[in-house]
Amino acid sequence: MYVAAIDQGTTSSRCMIFDHDGLVVASAQKEHEQIFPRAGWVEHDPEEIWRATREVVAAALAKKDLTRHDIAAVGITNQRETTVVWDRRTGKPVYNAIVWQDTRTDELCTELAGDEGPGRYRERTGLPLSTYFSGPKIRWILDNVEGARDRAEAGDLCFGTMDTWILWHLTGGADGGLHVTDPTNASRTMLMDLRTLEWDEQICAEFRIPTSMLPQIRSSSEVYGQVRERGTLAGVPIAGILGDQQAATFGQACLSAGEAKNTYGTGNFLLLNTGTTPMPSNNGLLTTVCYRIGDAPAVYALEGSVAVTGSLIQWLRDNLGIINSAKEIEGLAASVEDNGGAYFVPAFSGLFAPRWRPDARGAIVGLTRFVNKGHLARAALEATAFQTREVLEACLADSGVELTALKVDGGMVLNEILMQFQSDILDVPVIRPVVNETTALGAAYAAGLAVGFWAGEDDIRNNWAVGRTWKPTMAAAERDRLYREWNKAVERTYDWVD
Ligand code: ADP
Repeated sequence: MYVAAIDQGTTSSRCMIFDHDGLVVASAQKEHEQIFPRAGWVEHDPEEIWRATREVVAAALAKKDLTRHDIAAVGITNQRETTVVWDRRTGKPVYNAIVWQDTRTDELCTELAGDEGPGRYRERTGLPLSTYFSGPKIRWILDNVEGARDRAEAGDLCFGTMDTWILWHLTGGADGGLHVTDPTNASRTMLMDLRTLEWDEQICAEFRIPTSMLPQIRSSSEVYGQVRERGTLAGVPIAGILGDQQAATFGQACLSAGEAKNTYGTGNFLLLNTGTTPMPSNNGLLTTVCYRIGDAPAVYALEGSVAVTGSLIQWLRDNLGIINSAKEIEGLAASVEDNGGAYFVPAFSGLFAPRWRPDARGAIVGLTRFVNKGHLARAALEATAFQTREVLEACLADSGVELTALKVDGGMVLNEILMQFQSDILDVPVIRPVVNETTALGAAYAAGLAVGFWAGEDDIRNNWAVGRTWKPTMAAAERDRLYREWNKAVERTYDWVD
């Protein structure tokens, strides 16, 4: 028997099948369109994503001639915060999904902050008011899509993040589909009370969001229901839901307080497990739910989210054309010895953790006639490593936990130059596990635990194994100089947008 994970990511949807050792036996993946209607706006077509999800599930099973009888459970993990609102009777979205990177709610967030400022809801939700989270995106849809507010108030509309959208379809859609999410996804809406794990009526009222459109919050690991859709998984229990970063934390076996992982994908997300009490941040991190297994108390995390890391490499490919594929960045970066004095601050959506500067915009500084595209490639990779150091320093300041090594995963960690530079700039070893697909693996673990496919957390710890380690080799003076210059570069990007 196996466990299937559906990983609905920002750039693609995947299905991965795992065996009892936590190894991938089959997988399939499909990209979806990134829709940019205006500067700062990012949308996805939810129906395209649901079709892609069905296709990748069927394709993954077909690769190993598996059927639903071989699958003990299915888990879902997803790009977080991305917001869909649909009609519960027709299943039709009233608008495209508004993606987490979208900044259209900038003014709305300032308005919601009022005199109390962006920290207004931090105590209750663990989050600063930011365009990043779902709540303001829901409000935007209700305010701007014709008829949406009336339909929502009449109880006709459902809100969901991508986990909820997919679960609703898998369990029957308009024909009785379950409208459910888990606390990790709910904790990214700004509408959930971090301690009670319930929707906060007062915040919902202040955001003018009817609670009737919100999904039920269940745990991250329990049998929610069976697949009812007549696809390839019919009858299989759906038993796990985790937001992608929390899933990766689970898949990396960061199951004790003080353990952390950093995922390098479209953006970067460092999560530090802080145990069963939410730890407030004074240094620009988010307090978030890490997971909740069945009836056990919720486990919390501190999180540093960096908006643009891998997507800067996509930008060099798609907008500048200096590479043809993300992989080519490594060869280009290897054509030079260092950054040649250039620093690339990819503040395309403002700056997220730990600085939270919506007014910042991207910049390349330190240019001279000497700088060529190899240096720019290197500066682009280094930006990811510098931003990670900022987040780790904030984690240390908030929690007092000094990491002795950093567990990493995600698409960018195949890049040797980046990983070596990361270890150098942090001055700690960087460790990639054998299974780099930790996001899907974490969702599989959550589902498999709920049906007894894995007996407990020790199975997860035992499955985790080191794949590759990078050790620091840079002299301290060089490390300090580079980081100082990076800081100067970042400060140049402030106050660009009024
Ligand atoms: P997500 O789950 O956020 O969609 P992935 O973990 O699949 O992202 O990682 C994809 C990201 O990694 C892309 O933004 C891509 O530009 C970047 N990437 C992929 N391969 C490399 C590489 N060899 N070097 C640097 N960046 C890479």
